[in-house]
Amino acid sequence: MIDFHCHLDLYPNPRAVRDECVNRGLYVLSVTTTPSAWIGTSALAADTPRIRTALGLHPQLAHERQKELSLFDNFLPNTKYIGEIGLDGAPEFRPHSQSQVAVFEHILAKCCSAGGRIISVHSRRASGAVLDYLEKYPEAGTPVLHWFSGSLRDLDRAIKIGCWFSIGPAMLANEKGRVLAARMPRNRVLTESDGPFAQLGGVAVTPWQVQTAVQILGHIWSLPLGEVEQSIRRNLQDLLAQHNAQGTFA
Ligand code: MN
Repeated sequence: MIDFHCHLDLYPNPRAVRDECVNRGLYVLSVTTTPSAWIGTSALAADTPRIRTALGLHPQLAHERQKELSLFDNFLPNTKYIGEIGLDGAPEFRPHSQSQVAVFEHILAKCCSAGGRIISVHSRRASGAVLDYLEKYPEAGTPVLHWFSGSLRDLDRAIKIGCWFSIGPAMLANEKGRVLAARMPRNRVLTESDGPFAQLGGVAVTPWQVQTAVQILGHIWSLPLGEVEQSIRRNLQDLLAQHNAQGTFA
């Protein structure tokens, strides 16, 4: 199983969640919300070849943590994975859109100069603007739009510019999410939990609950579970191969 967007460091018991991921053989992309969290979060995955840590600065924190961009620049050479970054257009964050754009563009530009990265991108209520910036920085790498919730029109645009998608059980719990998922190219889809932010029935989603997403994708794609798992595994290998990152997940 693959959880390509998980906030391992934000669970109340990160080590226990990490250990359970290891026991279950999960591949996990552990995303961070601030550059200053990167060292501690990376340490969680120090001896776990199937857990990789992404360097991020979450758009909801952009206005408070913009000064950490120099830290971001320092750490960038150490990882092939960036996230969580992006833009958030919800009313409570819209007043900070200038900081959000400054942080997002800074990071995309740095990823271009660094030769490209695998980038987990947040686009809540801002998918059009996110796509504008991804188009402006085509050399930034491969964007993986996490929990995409934009319009079908923006989805088609995202597909056209080469975006990938990570899909979780919370997104697939509603009809709109399932309609979007059905339209995404199967060879550019990965699973995610977005735990502990994402919840099901009021409880934080665990990384191993990506299994629920696999089951729903099986219905959407009319494929048996084994084949869904195989194609998602193959997608991960393809993505890593595009970035010479095969060795980073065992
Ligand atoms: Mn997230």
